[in-house]
Amino acid sequence: MKNIIFIAPPLAGKGTQSNILKERFGYNHFSTGAMLRESVESDSPLGVRVKNIIDKGSLVSDDIIISLMKENLTKDKEPFILDGIPRTLNQAKSLDEIIDDNYEVIYLELRENDAIKRVESRLTCDCGKIYNINDELLKPKQLNKCDSCGKPLEKRNDDTINTLKLRFQKFNANIEPLLEYYKKKNKLHKIDVNRDILEISKDIMRIVAND
Ligand code: AMP
Repeated sequence: MKNIIFIAPPLAGKGTQSNILKERFGYNHFSTGAMLRESVESDSPLGVRVKNIIDKGSLVSDDIIISLMKENLTKDKEPFILDGIPRTLNQAKSLDEIIDDNYEVIYLELRENDAIKRVESRLTCDCGKIYNINDELLKPKQLNKCDSCGKPLEKRNDDTINTLKLRFQKFNANIEPLLEYYKKKNKLHKIDVNRDILEISKDIMRIVAND
């Protein structure tokens, strides 16, 4: 199996797809967003620096993100999924100095209006599970309780319509050079995510399976 790099606007389901692929095929999952939120929760020096940036929908600096990746992405972690990196061309170039060439890039395409429909009903759990109370496949079995660990579900601070719009602006400002970069490397695959999540996982697996 090849390593996977997800590029996606907010709410496109990169976390959900990562969880499915992790459970079914044993991928290691690296979410820069989750790592940063953990550092905020634990009040670490990094968390103190990034809290406001995340809450207002901005991007954390490339330097911070690249050192997070250098610390965590070692060869023994393959096969892995990168969920949330790269978000800038600079990050993509630095990443290529850290990881080898055995990866495919999956661009999960979602329009802003469809993301807005998803944002108000998304809930998350500390353990990494992601729910959406308006989606039959993503609803928790019990209201506000995680199916896996039983903890109460939470709403992310940045899951508001206003912050979502800012997150989309940041995404739109950076996406074209990123797509161009991976297209030239022949690694780019686009997937429309406005459909059944299991169909999306199958498409991803077809792309990354080694024949
Ligand atoms: P996510 O969980 O991927 O939606 O990320 C949540 C937030 O973490 C983003 O809105 C950014 O503020 C920050 N973040 C996560 N990954 C990156 C990255 N690769 N570069 C810059 N900021 C990031």
